[in-house]
Amino acid sequence: MKLKGKTVVITGAASGMGRAQARLFSKEGANVIAADIDKDSLDKVVKEITSNGGQALAVQADISNRDSVKDLVKKGVEEYSSIDILCNTAGILDDYSPSLDTSEDLWDRIFNVNLKGMFLLTNEVLPHMIKKEKGVIINISSIAGFVAGGGGAAYTSAKHAVVGYTKQLSFDYGKQGIRVNAIAPGAIKTGMTEEILKDEDAPVMETIKSVPAGRYGQPEEIANLALFLASEESDFIHGAIVPIDGGWLVK
Ligand code: NAP
Repeated sequence: MKLKGKTVVITGAASGMGRAQARLFSKEGANVIAADIDKDSLDKVVKEITSNGGQALAVQADISNRDSVKDLVKKGVEEYSSIDILCNTAGILDDYSPSLDTSEDLWDRIFNVNLKGMFLLTNEVLPHMIKKEKGVIINISSIAGFVAGGGGAAYTSAKHAVVGYTKQLSFDYGKQGIRVNAIAPGAIKTGMTEEILKDEDAPVMETIKSVPAGRYGQPEEIANLALFLASEESDFIHGAIVPIDGGWLVK
């Protein structure tokens, strides 16, 4: 019970890594404010958690919309009175589109969800944490936050920006008791990658098989790292961008 009595907001909680985080954090005793744009899948996740004796609240939210983000935090605080941990997990992919194939609309959508959504929610949650002089924020970046090829022009740019945003948050708020880190996953089997990873002949499979681990990862492996970063065990880790990629970034 590493998170007994803690309250965590998790975005993207209806699928993939967010869902794995919601399941694991609730098993570790946290109250989970589970947020996602996909209401039906979110309700299923929360039902599963509560029927297993966990504490969870489903809030449908579009993190790229300021009013929706405000409503999410308001409902969460009304239910559990404070927020100790924020997992900025939700994100969308750009179909690996190179710049010339990226419309302005696609660029804006990727940045609005993958970066602005993180900023809007962080700013809504931070005052609650600063008041308590304690809080943990875990952002999901990607190997695309370090190198090209893990996404297209918009996705790779936005994930690089998540790295910068994470470091600046840590720099600005660390002394006020807020610990901010990011996770940089490699290829992980989730709703986002399901179709791509189904195809053994897809060009990305060659890259995946060539990494030291020789395989793609599972969302539960990301949740385990997030739990460590959320817990007191990682108290001295600030502003780190932690790869969990089977070794994708070694070369
Ligand atoms: P996923 O299975 O697609 O889960 C993402 C969830 O976020 C979905 O339920 C999605 O709903 C939701 N979402 C999308 N837009 C939203 C919005 N505006 N507001 C609230 N929720 C929204 O993907 P995942 O792989 O777990 O992705 C989690 C994070 O990991 C993302 O930031 C992603 O960029 C990052 N990542 C993934 C991989 C990978 O290989 N899977 C690798 C590196 C980094 P819909 O399904 O309805 O869109």
